Amino acid sequence: MTNKERNDWIKELFAIYQEIKERYANGERFPHQIPQRWRMVRIEKAMAEIRAGNAERGICIECEKSIPKKRMLAFPEAIWCVNCAEIFEFQQQNKRRRHHMRLDVPVAIK
Ligand SMILES: [Zn+2]
Repeated sequence: MTNKERNDWIKELFAIYQEIKERYANGERFPHQIPQRWRMVRIEKAMAEIRAGNAERGICIECEKSIPKKRMLAFPEAIWCVNCAEIFEFQQQNKRRRHHMRLDVPVAIK
């Protein structure tokens, strides 16, 4: 994200947050949309980080490339770009797989 995009992102994020908050205040509940609650929590977290002056928001912590605004709106807590997130997820899956394999290896008892 450029500086301008980053400012727009903060504004849009805040607008989304305000909208959900107002709908809650008006008694509207989202029984079939639990993700809305998560979204609020995630936006709150991101906004707290922004207020704390975390300048790294919108920059991938792995490759240091700019994370597109669209991704930052969908995942306000994103710290990786899509590519790095996929690599990380792949590694995690492999780790789990190796872990299971280790557990599945029968222990030779003599
Ligand atoms: Zn990256």
